[in-house]
This record gives sequence, C-alpha cells and structure tokens, in this order.
Amino acid sequence: MNLIIFGPPGAGKGTQADFIVNKHRLYKLSTGEILRNEIKNKTELGKEISSIINSGSFVSDDIVKKLVESFISDEKYKDRIIFDGYPRNLTQANTLSDLLSNYGQKIDLVLKLSVSLETIKKRILERRTLEKRADDNEEIAIRRYKTYEKSTEPVIEYYKKLDLLKMIDGERSIEQINKEISDIISLI
Ligand code: AMP
Repeated sequence: MNLIIFGPPGAGKGTQADFIVNKHRLYKLSTGEILRNEIKNKTELGKEISSIINSGSFVSDDIVKKLVESFISDEKYKDRIIFDGYPRNLTQANTLSDLLSNYGQKIDLVLKLSVSLETIKKRILERRTLEKRADDNEEIAIRRYKTYEKSTEPVIEYYKKLDLLKMIDGERSIEQINKEISDIISLI
C-alpha cells in the first residue's frame, strides 16, 4: 500500500506519518526532511536550495522529482511508501502518478489532516523551541499556510475526485488521530 498524508505545515503530519511507519511497517518519504538534510550536510543541492526553503517558498518540481524517483524506483520500498510533503501542486501530482505507474505502483489512500490557522500558529511556535527550524516563525508560518492552501488544496481535490481521500480532524489529540488513521488503514 502507498499512501499520501496531507495537512498544512504544523498539522502533525510528520508525527502521524512516523506513527504509521512504525505500526504498519511502511517507509516515509518526506521531501522536506530530505531537503533539510541536504542543507545540513552542506551539499551542492543544499547550498542551492537553502534560501528558498528558509523563505518558505517551494523548491523546483524537477529537484523534488529526482528525489522522489530515486525512492520509488528502489524495490525495497515498493508499495510501502507514505508520502509526506509530496505532491504539493498539480504538476507534482501528475508526475507522481506517472512515476508510480512506471514502476508498477499506485496510490491506495490519501489522508488529509484538517487544522485551523490559529492552531497552526500555536504549534509552529512550540515546534520552533523544540526543533529550532529556520522556517518556523509566525510570519513564515502564515506564508507557508497560505502557499499550502493555494497550491496544495487543488491537489487534494484531485485525489477526492479519484475517491481516494479520507478527511481527518487534526484538532484532536495525537492518540485519537492515531487510532482513526489505523482504523482506516486496516480497512484497505
Ligand atoms: P515540509 O517539511 O514538508 O514542511 O517542507 C519544508 C520546505 O521544503 C517547504 O516549505 C519547501 O520549501 C520545501 N519542500 C518540501 N517538499 C516540497 C515539495 N514537494 N515541492 C517543493 N518544495 C518542497
């Protein structure tokens, strides 16, 4: 089973994805995490993208496509991927569909965590204290939320039309959300 988890930055996507990975023995493909590691390791790519990421904008579709293809093409991860932070626009959604079909795979489930902007602001500020991410401050949080709404909401509509979408109320406790997600996955 391959699945995608959507939600605005700070919605708890990463936490829920880690939970699903452990419980259902999947592999997480978080484009944001991979990109942040490139910056941390000061690679050529890292140097190229650091100012883009720190300003809250999107890295180019071509850059993320390469990262995603190297994951999808690896037999080890076949039909066991949870996509976190990808796809983020319709171009990426179409690319993902092509890449998966090239490697004999598809998306089986799409989860959307819904959380209000007020809750996001609160959580991002908490996370900043814990993780010290350069893109976690209120102004950038609002910008990332708005970018998410503008670019990613149409992608969610795309999966809704394919009847793959399950909506999750992300305002509840981590445990309640874990339980609901687990119940949905066990039905697939
Ligand atoms: P995230 O950890 O998913 O919130 O991603 C952090 C940052 O990495 C984003 O604000 C973007 O700058 C970049 N990024 C992550 N995933 C993508 C993607 N699929 N397309 C473009 N940029 C991305």
